[in-house]
Amino acid sequence: MKRVFNFSAGPSMLPLEVLEKAGAEITDANGTGQSVMEMSHRSKDYKPIIEKTESLLRELMGVPTNYRVLFLQGGASLQFAMVPINLAGVEQDAPRKKAAYVDTGVWADKAIKEAVKYVDVDIVASSRDKGYVLIPDTPRPPKDATFYHITLNNTIVGTKWNKLPETGNVPLTTDASSCFLSEPLDVSQFGVIYAGAQKNLGPAGTTVIVIREDLIGKAPSWTPVMLRYDIHAKEGSMYNTPPCYGIYIINLVLEWIKEQGGVEVMAKRNREKAALLYDYLDNSKTFLSPIEKSSRSLMNIPFIYRSVAEDKKPDLEKRFVQEAAKEGLVNLAGHRLVGGMRASIYNAMPVEGVKALIGFMERFEKNIR
Ligand SMILES: *Cc1c(COP(=O)(O)O)cnc(C)c1O
Repeated sequence: MKRVFNFSAGPSMLPLEVLEKAGAEITDANGTGQSVMEMSHRSKDYKPIIEKTESLLRELMGVPTNYRVLFLQGGASLQFAMVPINLAGVEQDAPRKKAAYVDTGVWADKAIKEAVKYVDVDIVASSRDKGYVLIPDTPRPPKDATFYHITLNNTIVGTKWNKLPETGNVPLTTDASSCFLSEPLDVSQFGVIYAGAQKNLGPAGTTVIVIREDLIGKAPSWTPVMLRYDIHAKEGSMYNTPPCYGIYIINLVLEWIKEQGGVEVMAKRNREKAALLYDYLDNSKTFLSPIEKSSRSLMNIPFIYRSVAEDKKPDLEKRFVQEAAKEGLVNLAGHRLVGGMRASIYNAMPVEGVKALIGFMERFEKNIR
């Protein structure tokens, strides 16, 4: 078997044990004589799977009892609309409500562009003028804001919030797509946490939403039924057919995390992996991390050439990505919007993968000098 180290930002690497378990059960899950893909979502065989997934998630994350967990579709991108509609949407002719947003990069900006359709967005802080290389200082939100939105880990530029903003009574909502279960999180600090599964949790197609109960049930009457948190909560994520197989894989990933020792152990490993790569970059004569030390992501680590003429960069970047791929280190190109290189090192990336990357970079540095 030949497995590569996949540094893709998403969909991304899954633990080998999870893939092997899914493989072993592909035609006969748990003695049912069926694949999970073939099961009715309302059957007695499937029900325990979604229930176990939720209870494991609650256990691993420490989700308080006054929060609901939903498994929906549409990706994080649909949450960009569902959060403002459900928390602050108003009836057709009613005056609009206000929401506070922090602009920390491409995904934050997309969330804002979607939100302005439904609420008056107050961008309380932005690091756009700094090229998004840090998380900006954040003022308290205006008192009349209905919620406060941040992007917990910025996948493309490679920053993360190390300290949450103080929002008083205004519920904090967050896009945690690229850092979900990478470190312990105090759920009680949030009104809504949402994440597309394909970064750190499972295959694409499932979105996990953790939402405080009192924020459910405020959607205006024009809200399409599929976008209503209250309907999905009432129906236990089964208003329509949920992403059954994706939820099953998430269940296996959660079991894997638990076997490894839980989210604390993930965090410890993630800090170790990230420290190895940042230390290497900070001491390299060839590469550097453009991100402010106080705001560096543990999950997505972009790097650029330290001092190379602009016109030589694209070729050298291509060469890096191609030569790395030949050694089984794949998907190291930076996001198309920012260029450079990027290593995404989610929970499933073993420390050996990061060490192999650093070994490759050391050799590559010598060869281009
Ligand atoms: C990948 C990503 C998204 C987009 O997710 P989809 O599930 O494709 O909609 C949104 N936000 C962040 C932070 C991401 O990393």
